[in-house]
Amino acid sequence: MTEEAPKKPLNPPSDEFTEAFSARIGSISGTCEFCGRTYFSDQGYGYDEGELEELRRKAAENPDKFIEWEGGPGFVDVDGRHWVVGCECNAPRRYEDWIWAHRWKIADYLKARAAGRMAEAKEFEAAVRDIPSLLENVQARRVENDGPKEV
Ligand SMILES: [Zn+2]
Repeated sequence: MTEEAPKKPLNPPSDEFTEAFSARIGSISGTCEFCGRTYFSDQGYGYDEGELEELRRKAAENPDKFIEWEGGPGFVDVDGRHWVVGCECNAPRRYEDWIWAHRWKIADYLKARAAGRMAEAKEFEAAVRDIPSLLENVQARRVENDGPKEV
């Protein structure tokens, strides 16, 4: 029987990564969607009646899962899930490490995608450029068919 090596704890994501992928929202409480820990603000306002007391009761029973913080949690969005900024699971670090390890391939990919989009935009620009003359042709045909309108 082989023993599974203990998982090495992840370092927190960098400030740059956290800023880049910030959900730009905060809340008085929130659950990390990577590990299930719930963080809640120690401020007494913004809660429904009894809500803060309920969270504190849960924290007393399960201090590793319900954590009272100074201020409310912020969030980082990665892979369709919220990570609570500062949560000890540090889940976004795996994504950051992958991005950084493949940064040159990712840069090439972004350049290729941007080039494709640029070609598409140029085609669209050319098509749109002809619209005013097409409209003039349509108007001219109407005048030919209906004759000039009398005022
Ligand atoms: Zn977490």
